[in-house]
Amino acid sequence: MSVNADPQELAKFSELAHRWWDEHGEFRPLHAINPLRLQWIEALAPLRGSRVLDVGCGGGILAESMARHGAQVLGIDLAAKPLKVAQLHALDSGVEGLDYREASAESLAAEQPASFDTVTCMEMLEHVPDPASVVRSCAALAKPGGRVFFSTIHRNAKAFVYAIVGAEHVLNLLPKGTHEYAKFIRPSELARWCRDAGLDVLELKGMQYNPITGRYWLSGDTSVNYLVACAKPQ
Ligand code: SAH
Repeated sequence: MSVNADPQELAKFSELAHRWWDEHGEFRPLHAINPLRLQWIEALAPLRGSRVLDVGCGGGILAESMARHGAQVLGIDLAAKPLKVAQLHALDSGVEGLDYREASAESLAAEQPASFDTVTCMEMLEHVPDPASVVRSCAALAKPGGRVFFSTIHRNAKAFVYAIVGAEHVLNLLPKGTHEYAKFIRPSELARWCRDAGLDVLELKGMQYNPITGRYWLSGDTSVNYLVACAKPQ
């Protein structure tokens, strides 16, 4: 079976892996948005005592924060170096209930279907060749009655200007080449993949950013960054 991954994308994240936990470095936006997404997840899927899978966990910013909130978390990614960084950081911070594994969503879904109360897959779909396959696998990995969360970037002119020109070239929030416009995903496409995977879409939220104050917040405006919350029927 061929792996649903782009080696160049994985190499890009491996190259920067040692910078993952630098709050002022290349992954600053992920640190900045983490409290916001964590709070949103917690409100829809209480973390304490739950079994959570974080797909495309990278260096573990979200995975570790969910474990700190009392979840039993497994983080998976296909880039070896970010995973190593995630493991070392977890050891260093002494967080319990946190494991990492090099695996794809597809392979884990074949091995452990219907095993997780909550599945999160944030800022990852726009880096894979076949995002619908990842959505199907996330749905398969959730238990009936579980929750599945995604976040990604819209594909329209505004998202091009904000997420690529603005974030990578003007504000230097992200390294140049982080995102490729053609891989961005319209909310309607993501919602369709979710429904086709048997999930009910519960919420669609936009994420706004003010470059002057550096503040992020959730809103109804999904024109650039957005998040989707789904439920897997019982
Ligand atoms: N989800 C994390 C990291 C986002 S960066 C967060 O939001 O904080 C995107 C991550 O997706 C990187 O760690 C990259 O290695 C991973 N990734 C890219 N393609 C992947 C694939 N096919 N399978 C698993 N992980 C992948």
